[in-house]
Amino acid sequence: MSFAGIDCVLCGQRPSLPRGERTQSLWSPEDDFLGASLTTEDPLVGTTIPVCLRCSGALAERFEHAAKFAVEGLRKGELRLRPPLARAFVLWVLKTWLLTAHPAAQVSDPRSSPARFDLSEVPQEIYGWMVEEKPPPAGLSIWATRGAEAATNGSPLYRIALPTVTADGRTTRFQELAFRLDLLDGGLLDVELVYHPGWEIEHPLERDARAARLWPRDGRRVLDLGALPVLEAHELSWGRGPRLLFAPRSYHGEQREPLSAKTSFSFFPPFPPGVTAVFAPGD
Ligand SMILES: [Zn+2]
Repeated sequence: MSFAGIDCVLCGQRPSLPRGERTQSLWSPEDDFLGASLTTEDPLVGTTIPVCLRCSGALAERFEHAAKFAVEGLRKGELRLRPPLARAFVLWVLKTWLLTAHPAAQVSDPRSSPARFDLSEVPQEIYGWMVEEKPPPAGLSIWATRGAEAATNGSPLYRIALPTVTADGRTTRFQELAFRLDLLDGGLLDVELVYHPGWEIEHPLERDARAARLWPRDGRRVLDLGALPVLEAHELSWGRGPRLLFAPRSYHGEQREPLSAKTSFSFFPPFPPGVTAVFAPGD
């Protein structure tokens, strides 16, 4: 696997390093690389993306170095993060999960095939901010739950359907990426990244303090992951909802109920406020 001849996916201006860059590099030592390939079965550690030398340095400085102390503490079981460490940690998670969701990401273990975002329906601007000293764009949320080692895979209690929104000439598919983060002595953290611009989500587990919202969050607050209970089963699943066509200028600014496990979309009127038609997913 080589990224030679491919452009950097972050700046789009320079060629990628032949081996690219890992989506996270805090606990993946240099000797994991065999030539240009990573040798690990961990799909998070073993994921690389086409990134140029300059953007690789920017990622290391802004995210990896900043979060190192926080992540090392979490891996020792220190789950209560003071505000500066909490800020560094959640930005590192946002960066790492977004890069892992990038369609150009390559995983070293051929047996694992994680889901990626479909960028034809997600604007590229959710990536450029990382190397441009800009804040993250709106529309991204991250939740974390603590999971048991052998969490059962029965049917989840809650399901949230993520629609595709067509409004004012733009079609945006809401998407989600879930990955488990092994914090060693800190236990297992199940982290969900969701892209849902312009429409709030009510997370059923956040409501009863069994999930923590990592992003966006008030950076002046302590983040205590140790306060979360360990869940024995996956209680929430995300599904693909229908495509909703909005009347001109009615999507942004419109007050609407947050998406939740109670939201159900019907192909027949009455439609939600501002919606003029509902199509099957993919139509
Ligand atoms: Zn670059």
